Amino acid sequence: MDKHLEPCAHCGSPALLYREMTLIKIICLNALCTAHETLGFSTAEAAIEAWNRRLDTTNLMQALEANNELSRLVTKLEIEDARLRVALGVTQPPPAVAPYHRLD
Ligand SMILES: [Zn+2]
Repeated sequence: MDKHLEPCAHCGSPALLYREMTLIKIICLNALCTAHETLGFSTAEAAIEAWNRRLDTTNLMQALEANNELSRLVTKLEIEDARLRVALGVTQPPPAVAPYHRLD
């Protein structure tokens, strides 16, 4: 085995290669790390390759939260735009109740 085991992509802590039954796994040694263990692999090389390829999802989660916040702002702006269009007489307000077609 000549592959170098990178530190944890999530927290930077050292990692440990170990065997569980017939599978080889890698675990982050930081007990507080939330995504700290690989799946089981048949060889140490495959486990190390997978471990070293892991993404740091901290930035990904921050990007998703920023995207969610932008979506909320866009929705607020769309609602305000519709309110102003109605207030200025540019657009008729939508019917307060959908025009249901009674069956009886
Ligand atoms: Zn970690």
